[in-house]
Amino acid sequence: MSEALNGSGTTTGEVAGAWLDGGWKAPFGDAIMRTLATPKRMLVRGEGCRVWDVDGNEYLDFLAGIAVNALGHGHPALVEAVSAQVATLAHVSNYFSTPSQLQLAQRLREITGAGERGRVLFGNSGAEANEAAFKLARLNKGQHGRKTRVLALHNAFHGRTMGSLALTGKPPMREAFEPLPGGVEHIDSTIEALEAAIDDRVAALFVEPIKGEAGVLDLPEGFLRRARELTEQHHALLIIDEIQTGVGRTGRWFAYQHEGILPDAVTVAKGMAGGVPIGALVTFGWASDLFTQGQHGSTFGGNPLATAAGNAVLAEIERSDLVGNAARRGEELKQIIRSFDSPLIGDVRGHGLLIGIGLTDGEAHRLSDAALAGGLIVNAPNESSIRLAPPLIVGDAELAEFRDRFGRALASL
Ligand SMILES: *Cc1c(COP(=O)(O)O)cnc(C)c1O
Repeated sequence: MSEALNGSGTTTGEVAGAWLDGGWKAPFGDAIMRTLATPKRMLVRGEGCRVWDVDGNEYLDFLAGIAVNALGHGHPALVEAVSAQVATLAHVSNYFSTPSQLQLAQRLREITGAGERGRVLFGNSGAEANEAAFKLARLNKGQHGRKTRVLALHNAFHGRTMGSLALTGKPPMREAFEPLPGGVEHIDSTIEALEAAIDDRVAALFVEPIKGEAGVLDLPEGFLRRARELTEQHHALLIIDEIQTGVGRTGRWFAYQHEGILPDAVTVAKGMAGGVPIGALVTFGWASDLFTQGQHGSTFGGNPLATAAGNAVLAEIERSDLVGNAARRGEELKQIIRSFDSPLIGDVRGHGLLIGIGLTDGEAHRLSDAALAGGLIVNAPNESSIRLAPPLIVGDAELAEFRDRFGRALASL
């Protein structure tokens, strides 16, 4: 049995032995649905900003499970909260409430700015949160049911279920699954396109404030503020998808807070419970009155295990000022990236610890493979972008190590 496996506690030596040296790849190809490409590595263990693969190799993790492992891996606050909760009460159904459920809902009202007029609907993923938001949009009917239009942005990602896919502005993901729920129109991410599209028949505008899956693309300056004015004027819901950007990632609790606006609804998921599946729709003001009893629900949504994890993550983010850390480390990371003397590096995008690197020659996959081979996990969401989303706990040592390992990967191309 290899060293790494002794510490994993998740797999027996015998089974794992067959999985060494890439031996897991063929069984993966047989057993896992073909929706997934064969992954590059099989991981068995993590600690802080590091993970180890089945062969015992160590990696600096600058992807954090796509902006999920906010506290890194194996954080004691999360381990203790989840262990204690699962030993006490893991699940109860929505016929009952639990202290952790109510506590997380109250905390989400505070950090989103929804305050006392806010309400929270829990689910188990980002896509589910957006499904709920889509249903919310349908409830904003307008006089004589005139509000039949839902606006979303080209190239934005909102999830893979039928409703969230209808909102997603990426035709290649959608086409095989049409017909999708109707009424959604995709517009360009410009203030002009927004002004041209919006009218009184619009029930909702969905916005991904930094397009993570598209390569960490920022919105134009002033877009969110103009969106707020226009949706208010036309009584359309402004729904912001903060599934990737939320919970401190961009150096504020939520990305819309950089623009000084409040939406009518926000969807939250990825980083909120540090890796335990969770999702939430948070509504503001009049939007909190739209759903009525019996119109939505989820068996697992808001269960004590997931919400205890959420409470632990939010408490640790606050205790260690990880929102401030994301803002500071994000700036340092951008400086490091700009300091590389490489013609491959184009623009540097994003906010806080959600960073996109535009590549001049479109070799993002080769670069991310080279980084991986040198012990660094970064992500290539497309051929011309590298995405970085390290745990919010990164410090000096990890940034220095990133500089070395990413620098070597760049030089090796
Ligand atoms: C990841 C993501 C989703 C989908 O979340 P899942 O948990 O994968 O369903 C939706 N919107 C954005 C912006 C995301 O980054």
